[in-house]
Amino acid sequence: ARYADGKGWYEARVEARAPIQMDPASAVLHYAQEIFEGLKAYRNADGTVTMFRPDANAARFTTSATRLAMPHLPEGAFVESLRQLITIDREWIPQDDESSLYLRPFMFASEVFLGVRPAMEYLYVVIASPVGSYFKHGIKPVKVWVSPNYTRAAPGGTGAAKCGGNYAASLLPQQEAAANGCDQVVFLDAVEQRWIDELGGMNIFFVYDDGTLVTPPLGTILPGITRDAVMRLATDAGRAVIERPVAFDEWQADAERGRIREAFACGTAAVITPIGEVRFEGGSFRMGDGGSGETTMGIRKQLVDIQRGRAADPYGWVEKVF
Ligand code: PMP
Repeated sequence: ARYADGKGWYEARVEARAPIQMDPASAVLHYAQEIFEGLKAYRNADGTVTMFRPDANAARFTTSATRLAMPHLPEGAFVESLRQLITIDREWIPQDDESSLYLRPFMFASEVFLGVRPAMEYLYVVIASPVGSYFKHGIKPVKVWVSPNYTRAAPGGTGAAKCGGNYAASLLPQQEAAANGCDQVVFLDAVEQRWIDELGGMNIFFVYDDGTLVTPPLGTILPGITRDAVMRLATDAGRAVIERPVAFDEWQADAERGRIREAFACGTAAVITPIGEVRFEGGSFRMGDGGSGETTMGIRKQLVDIQRGRAADPYGWVEKVF
């Protein structure tokens, strides 16, 4: 669908995937005025097709649009656009239990204009693509690299928005993580470079020896929908869940004396991933025995079972498409 100031949204349509023609002076190519979302459609054992909390993605898309000075979609249009695409692309939704149809809604400034100001024309697009299991050979704990040089988001910046520019800034630290044998980068806060923010594409939780879950507070991090679901599930299971800043030196000290027993990353792509080892400039430490922790795997199973329609969904998180 297209948007123009004074005209509103128009030309909403579903068409075969094809290249988009862009003028070289399209605003997005110069100032990165772009936002996106990522979610999945699942085919369940009984043949129904569902999405997980699409309303939460719609709400975050709106928040991101506000931060990037972009127009909002009409009420309900985000979820409706996904429903239409999934219904038309139903043959593309994988059958097997491990796979899903990945949905990528995004919006960008299409106005042909080189001045630095919010554009007056936008394009909203959704692409869909089948994706397999994140872990091909069973769940494997990941190694993470604590970036000494780069941060992801400063207070007052765009860290809480899902915009392309944030990811442009995280490519080099992610490359640095890979060069150090790690799967993901861990970002520290931009002010003191001391407090844990999040990973390149996932939020983070710590499991303490008394069973308490601790996760960094919202502000500069992306408010993950998986993070929110984990907090709700754990709280309702009677577990203490605390949002508070965790310093990197505290993580290391508490891991080494066994106070923090497990750590895990969470996000739409891999749901919940145990963190086995933490590497940083000048050292490393392991989480527990470096394997997949019991608490982490328990929460993972609970969440995946709800997402896949294998367990009751008292939260109304699972939305049926057909
Ligand atoms: N943080 C970042 C930087 C991310 O890219 C993602 C993935 N969207 C997340 C956290 C996790 O968010 P969600 O659970 O909504 O996928």
